[in-house]
Amino acid sequence: AHLDNMPSGAVAPGADDNASGIAGVLTAASILGQYEWNCTLRFVAFTGEEQGLRGSSAYATKVYSDTENIAGVLNLDMVGFNALDEPVIELHTKRSIDNNQSDLAIAYLFSNVVASYNLDLTSEIIQDRESRSDHASFWSRGYPGILAIEDFSDFTPYYHSVNDTVYTLDAAYFTEFVKAAVGTFAHMGCLVVPEIAVAPSAISVSILPETSITQTLSITNYSGELTWQLAETPPVSWLSEAITAGQLAIEGIDIPLFFDTAGLPEGVYTTTLTIDSNDPDEPQTSVGVTLTTTLQPPPPPILQYLPWLTKYRSE
Ligand SMILES: [Zn+2]
Repeated sequence: AHLDNMPSGAVAPGADDNASGIAGVLTAASILGQYEWNCTLRFVAFTGEEQGLRGSSAYATKVYSDTENIAGVLNLDMVGFNALDEPVIELHTKRSIDNNQSDLAIAYLFSNVVASYNLDLTSEIIQDRESRSDHASFWSRGYPGILAIEDFSDFTPYYHSVNDTVYTLDAAYFTEFVKAAVGTFAHMGCLVVPEIAVAPSAISVSILPETSITQTLSITNYSGELTWQLAETPPVSWLSEAITAGQLAIEGIDIPLFFDTAGLPEGVYTTTLTIDSNDPDEPQTSVGVTLTTTLQPPPPPILQYLPWLTKYRSE
């Protein structure tokens, strides 16, 4: 987004053009900066846009000469004005004859974010190579990008005037537009999220009265930083856990589970271990636990085929 404005008089409030876009960039930075990413996110405010894309042109020239790999550019320019009932936003890409597939991927992502998060916006993808803003500096150097902007047929009448003030903006429309932009940039940015795996999926123990046994529950994290906690639902007296909460980098932990039938009449008892975590796909995992206490001896363990045995068998 650009932070300069084109004054037509003594003052240039530039609320829509383009404090609105800058507020979106700052909001995205303050939120997305809290997370871990597999790629670099840059939140850039350009100057000199109104004089002919000068800031973005200098920037794009520099990153191009440094052969930086830029996956995509999301440019917010005028995202706050909406007078008509329908909250239309425009997503501009290059034309199809310009080979705009990578731009379209960003535009479709933006539309999907609007739909998936139920934002009150109507997004229109326009393949017209609209070049009057900073994304064009990246297009001309071969980088994909889009311009996200308010509806051209419901455009601020205060454009480049002393009356482009915050009072003329539609706060609800602007808020939804910024949410969509933050969501799109998040999905463009390879967010690193925790990935939990819990094993086994169920535990069944059969022991004599007045005895105890230890089993193991494994929690493994495959990505990012996992925070987990463990609880019995419902809590039971015959089971306890060595650890009930923790944090894991990309690693695993074995949690000893103590089963104790002291004072427990013969019978079958059940509970569920629930593991809550910050894994967004799997915020809660459940492991069913069954304890049978009986005077009958436990069944013999099932012998498993072990490859090394064959070696001795053949000798
Ligand atoms: Zn502008």
